[in-house]
Amino acid sequence: MPLASELERIWMPFTYQQDHIDHPPLVIERGQGIHVYDRNGNAYIDAIGSWWVSFFGHNHPQISAAVRAQLDKIEHVLMAGCVAEPTLRLSHLLGSMLPRQITKLFFSDDGSTAVEVALKIALQYHSLKGGNQCEFVALGGAYHGDTLGAMSVGMIPEYHDLFHKRFNKQHGVLSPYCYRCPVGCKASTCIAQCMDPLEALFKQRGNHIAACIFEPMLQGAAGMRAYPAKVLKRIFGLCHTYKILTIADEVATGFGRTGKLFACEYADCAPDMMCLAKGLTGGYLPMGITAVQEHIFEQFSGDFRSGKIFNHGHTFTGNPLAASAACATLQLMLDMNIPSSLEPIISHFHKQLHRLFDDHENVGDIRTIGMVGALELVADRTTKALFPTENRTLFRIAQAGLKHGLLIRPLGNVLYFVPPFIATTQEIDQMLNSAKAAMADVLYA
Ligand SMILES: *Cc1c(COP(=O)(O)O)cnc(C)c1O
Repeated sequence: MPLASELERIWMPFTYQQDHIDHPPLVIERGQGIHVYDRNGNAYIDAIGSWWVSFFGHNHPQISAAVRAQLDKIEHVLMAGCVAEPTLRLSHLLGSMLPRQITKLFFSDDGSTAVEVALKIALQYHSLKGGNQCEFVALGGAYHGDTLGAMSVGMIPEYHDLFHKRFNKQHGVLSPYCYRCPVGCKASTCIAQCMDPLEALFKQRGNHIAACIFEPMLQGAAGMRAYPAKVLKRIFGLCHTYKILTIADEVATGFGRTGKLFACEYADCAPDMMCLAKGLTGGYLPMGITAVQEHIFEQFSGDFRSGKIFNHGHTFTGNPLAASAACATLQLMLDMNIPSSLEPIISHFHKQLHRLFDDHENVGDIRTIGMVGALELVADRTTKALFPTENRTLFRIAQAGLKHGLLIRPLGNVLYFVPPFIATTQEIDQMLNSAKAAMADVLYA
């Protein structure tokens, strides 16, 4: 069957349907380590870890074995009145890794549901305490998932504007976007002034605000905007002063990705709630967790007469296959001493990014944090002007990347790399050299 016919029933996510016809997707047959292989046997470096989930590479022997072993026991059981054995194990394993103030885990299915759960818990928490706080605050450029509640705190115009016109949009403040600082600061003058509007909002509407949600240290979908710890500290500080609950969305930043086990560690703060997903299962199966401090959980405890119940749950919540993959993944993190053992590869990765791209005339900004590297491409470094949209420069670079054995997916004008933790220095070099070659193909054609 011709590929076009094979594809005719598929509606691709985040894709113009004409592109899907003109540039058919790779049909992937298998993966190994940092590579994926299409069915013609071509290898590609999975430079973005299949949407940031692949910590230990594809088809990792230990994670695969754990899932296989679980398959012979039970595939799924409901999580109310029952709990699967691997889910129990996971709760202790993860519990031992989280900041000590965080004591309870609520399981769900993915990052978006982990966020929905946090938002609902915040609303009900206030209600149980006799309050009526029902507004949320998010940062400009925020991405917290694609379901309606998560989108209400999403602040990326291309994804969210249409929906905000149709339902509740929450408060959005500024994005800590250092390259194009919204308040005109430089690194040397920054004392987190970009969060002044957050303080103003808390002063004015603090009594109505149920929680402040943020991606700590790195706004992912906005274009891998890494921001300084002082900004995160100020967010925590303001929330503390104005008694606003904090929801740290660590879906993308959790589990060592930023060089700390959890990005909140950069501010030495424990959020009231933390959302986890993405790499939690090593990229094997979907699973989300909303982890909360005891004082949150306490509000919900009581017997049937108390009426205190969190009426929420998803069909596949606490799925044993996903939990077995998560246990194996977290055990690998402990055994391999992640993130400390990543220091040499992180430093090599950052050094190479700068060596290859510092002088590149179309690289306006190089952003790095842990095992994340991003290049913001510009038509002109002085004015920071973007390439005209109709040139589709980054789309074409990604297409050219395939010819160099590189799988990347830019975000707007940002080309980024989220390699697995097991990447070798040679693989990092190959990945970055291929990206540079793909850029040359398009920019100097
Ligand atoms: C990806 C992501 C989500 C949504 O997770 P899904 O598993 O895609 O639903 C939420 N928050 C952040 C910060 C993310 O990066």
